[in-house]
Amino acid sequence: MRIRQALFCILLVFALLLTGCSAPQAADAGPVSQVGYYFDTVVTITLYGADDSLMPELWTLCGKYEQLLSKTIPGSDVDRINHGEGKPVTVSPETWQMLQAARRIHDVSGGAFSITIAPVTALWDFTGGTQRMPTPEELAAALPLVDDSRLILGEEHTVTLPAGMSIDLGGIAKGYIADQAAALCRDRCSGAIINLGGNVYVVGLKPNGSAFRVGVRDPQGDESAIKCVVTVRDTSVVTSGIYERYFMREGIRYHHILDPQTGISADSDLAGVTVICTSSMEADAVATACIVLGSEGALALLNEMGLDGLLITREDRVITTPGFENAYQLQTV
Ligand code: ADP
Ligand code: MG
Repeated sequence: MRIRQALFCILLVFALLLTGCSAPQAADAGPVSQVGYYFDTVVTITLYGADDSLMPELWTLCGKYEQLLSKTIPGSDVDRINHGEGKPVTVSPETWQMLQAARRIHDVSGGAFSITIAPVTALWDFTGGTQRMPTPEELAAALPLVDDSRLILGEEHTVTLPAGMSIDLGGIAKGYIADQAAALCRDRCSGAIINLGGNVYVVGLKPNGSAFRVGVRDPQGDESAIKCVVTVRDTSVVTSGIYERYFMREGIRYHHILDPQTGISADSDLAGVTVICTSSMEADAVATACIVLGSEGALALLNEMGLDGLLITREDRVITTPGFENAYQLQTV
């Protein structure tokens, strides 16, 4: 599964660079591309005209945030929150800021985005090969623990979570890290594409002065299939979908985005959601929420948040927010 994902990401990056690779490059303009594995996902960084130290600094940044935000690394902020046993835990300002954003998007999405989903995600295995799914009894025990309103964000970056509950930042952390990586790239290179497993941030321009083009995956196709292409500048393009981490059982697709009300994979009409926003963190959480909400609720959420997005239904229909096609020169492949 991971090899397939790696292959997909590499192919996607080639698609991203559609014209970038063939464009004439300034003598000092790169590009230099490297692939790493962080946050359980393939990370690809492509830099144009960067100073020599930028790439290693970006990998250091990825490592730093993995140590802070992973729920499986002992001593990470998330691990300490999850083992706080109801007592306040002091976290880094970065983690606290992300938790605040998660709270805001939880509220505006009517709970479709809920980081306290962790006790339920722990009952599923979408990637390990066991295709484990919870029994009704396990779900009944875990669902009462899904309640973001019980996560208390206190003074001086303290966080308190009732014993037994736990959080999972899988739906928002990659966006936050993409934002931090993009911020580091500004003024240090002429152009950059940061791709954290579906969270893409583009900075600057290609050496020929044109904007970057980002491919949106076709949910019906294989890992390399592109449904459409958007042209963007200095912003993030984040895609969540039901086709990457999933298994099929009795004709039903069980995928990794769970409906916090049922604890089961969201079975809305949406197969893929792409959100464009200068905050990749916001786009990340909103894209996840949109999959849960379905097309009608997703359009309402995007409208409420003033964000642009592209929805692909399970029936292969493409729906965009008003003005999207012109703003991003949407091309269907
Ligand atoms: P990916 O991590 O593949 O980019 P998403 O950004 O959509 O995909 O996040 C999915 C991850 O978020 C899941 O693997 C899980 O850790 C977590 N998650 C699942 N359902 C929800 C939900 N309803 N709200 C918040 N986080 C969720
Ligand atoms: Mg997300």
